Amino acid sequence: QLVPRVQLNDGYSIPQLGFGVFKVDPDETERIVSDALEVGYRHLDTARIYGNEAGVGRAIAASGIPREELFITTKLWNDDQGAESARVAFEQSRERLGLDYVDLYLIHWPSPARDRYVETWKALEQLRETDGVRSIGVSNFLTHHLERLLAETEVVPAVDQIELHPYHQQPATAAFADEHDIRIEAWGPLGQGKYPLFDLPEITGAAAAHDVTPAQVVIRWHLQRGHILFPKSNRRERMAENFDVLGFELSEDEVAAITGLEREGRVSAHPDEVD
Ligand code: NAD
Repeated sequence: QLVPRVQLNDGYSIPQLGFGVFKVDPDETERIVSDALEVGYRHLDTARIYGNEAGVGRAIAASGIPREELFITTKLWNDDQGAESARVAFEQSRERLGLDYVDLYLIHWPSPARDRYVETWKALEQLRETDGVRSIGVSNFLTHHLERLLAETEVVPAVDQIELHPYHQQPATAAFADEHDIRIEAWGPLGQGKYPLFDLPEITGAAAAHDVTPAQVVIRWHLQRGHILFPKSNRRERMAENFDVLGFELSEDEVAAITGLEREGRVSAHPDEVD
C-alpha cells in the first residue's frame, strides 16, 4: 500500500508517514536509515543538531532510490539564526546530506530570547528562491510566533512541526495552523516512550479490536487526524511495525476516545523557554 501524500500550501506534497532520526547515533545512522529505506520509508526527518546528516546522506546515496521518490527534511539550529548565518548553515546542511536540494527546511525553534526568527525566516524565503530548497517551514512555533511571521513576512510556512501525541495535542496551535493552510507535523508522535500510552485502555482496546499493536494504533490515530509524522526506532522490526499501518482503519469513536486523552503532557521544554 502506498503512503498517502499531504498537499502543502506551495504546490509540493509530502509523504504523510516518514522516519525520524533524533538521537540516532551518527556512527549508526547510515545502517539505521538504510534499514528504514529498505522497509519502505521515503520521507526522512533530520536536523543539524542531530549530528547525523552525513550518515543520512550516505544511506540515501547507497540506496540507489531515485531522488524524486525521496522527501528529505532538515532544520536550522538556534545558534545559526540570523540572515547570513542561516544561509551558511543551510549550505552546510545540504552539503553534509550530499543533496542538490532539500525538500523541506525548517527553523528548529523560535528561540524568542534571540529575537531573530523573523530575520531568519526572511533568509529562508530567499533560499526558497534558489534551486537548493523546495519548501520552507517552522518547528515549535506557537500561535503567537506564527502570528508575528504572518504579519511581518511574505511566505506562509508550509508546515509547523510541533510536539504532538495523545497526551499533548496543542489544539490551539493546530487550529491556527489549519486556518492558515499550514500543515501540522507531529514530533514525538509516540510520546518518546515517556508516557504509558501503550497501556491505556483507549489504545490497547483498539489494538485488540484491529489485531494490531498499540504503537500502530497511535500512528493510525495521527494519520486519521491528518498529521504528518515520522516515528523513530533503531530496530528494524519496529520500523516495519510502524510502517505497517495502512491496512486498517480506526472507527470515529476510537479516534475520538484517543483524542480525549489530551492532558497538556509535554515531553520537552516550553518553546518560549528554549534558547
Ligand atoms: P517518538 O515519539 O517517535 O518515540 C521514539 C521512541 O518510541 C523510540 O526510541 C522507541 O523507544 C519507541 N518506539 C518506537 N516504535 C515503537 C514501537 N513500535 N513499539 C514500542 N515502542 C516504540 O519520538 P521522537 O524520535 O522524538 O520523534 C520522532 C521524530 O520527530 C524524531 O526522530 C525527529 O525526527 C522529530 N523530532 C523533532 C523535534 C523538534 O523539535 N522539531 C523534537 C523531537 C523529535
